[in-house]
Amino acid sequence: MFGFIRRLLAVSAVLLSAGCSAQPQEARVTIYAMDTVMSLTVYGENAAENAANAAAKINELSALWSVTDESSELYRLNHSGGMPMEVSAETAELIRFSLEMGEDTGGALDITLYPVLREWGFTTGEYRIPDEERISELLSARGTPEIYGSTVALPEGTELDTGAVAKGCTGDILAEQLRSAGVTSALLDLGGNIHAVGGRADGSDWRLGIKDPRGEGNIAVLELRDKAAVTSGDYERYFIGEDGVRYCHILDPKTGRPADSGLCSVTVIGEEGRLCDALSTALFVMGKDAAKEYRLSRGGFDMILIDTDGNILITEGIEEDFFPAEGFSGEVEVLRRQ
Ligand code: ADP
Ligand code: MG
Repeated sequence: MFGFIRRLLAVSAVLLSAGCSAQPQEARVTIYAMDTVMSLTVYGENAAENAANAAAKINELSALWSVTDESSELYRLNHSGGMPMEVSAETAELIRFSLEMGEDTGGALDITLYPVLREWGFTTGEYRIPDEERISELLSARGTPEIYGSTVALPEGTELDTGAVAKGCTGDILAEQLRSAGVTSALLDLGGNIHAVGGRADGSDWRLGIKDPRGEGNIAVLELRDKAAVTSGDYERYFIGEDGVRYCHILDPKTGRPADSGLCSVTVIGEEGRLCDALSTALFVMGKDAAKEYRLSRGGFDMILIDTDGNILITEGIEEDFFPAEGFSGEVEVLRRQ
């Protein structure tokens, strides 16, 4: 008898939650962190609590990784005067991964560029074009960071800026936190780094607009589920010099000058947000030919490259999910593995 009642209660509990999921709860939180506006949309049971916990995690990580906040762990590391310093597990992993990706991309990603970025004014918004001599001085003053477990040693003259990878890492940590809280539908927009947990609440894919780097609106739409899509472009943080040239915030580590590779937007799509973020920056520096070669020699991600002539290259993994906007008149090339 009691067994029957228990079963009945169990069934009604399931019906109740099925009833809820037909009209899911939705919670939206917008915060300013890591120098950008972030917007988190979470669906399902306890949506508000899960979104609030995600926002709290962002604040925690941004307090560790800010390069300008004097109380951040990264700031203290950058001012450690050449002495090894113990850092949190999250910071150690962010630095370890960034250094590994630096090697893997032949130095196109380089988190030791901070002194050079500062000289260009990209950290403060007070832009200027440094002279060649000053750039080479700063480039050659840098040493190689070393990391053992969670101890990091920065040679004097070496300062790190993890801005090219930190938002991707943050997205991975948040997505993991949400999934383990039982969330099956959430969209995290971390200043243009999109992390999708599952699909939309109605079961369909998320639809993302890929911004037109030289015009208004979107150049294409990408359908996405359970993945990250991270874009690096020359159109969001840049200045036009007195010489009329566009100088963007992504530097070519070989020259210490803004990358000028013929690409104006790179989106990398994959399961691991930090990989997408590291590669969006690195492939932007490399340019189209080197990015194609890199992609053909490695798996684990798809990409959308938009060049300064307005043409698009995508990889075959997203061919079915990619839709150029109405009126798009450039070419779309699809990169396939032979
Ligand atoms: P965003 O952070 O604007 O979304 P990215 O992920 O491409 O775009 O990161 C760009 C940031 O990374 C720059 O603002 C700068 O702090 C830093 N950076 C610039 N060039 C490089 C580079 N070649 N390697 C590593 N970090 C870079
Ligand atoms: Mg990046």
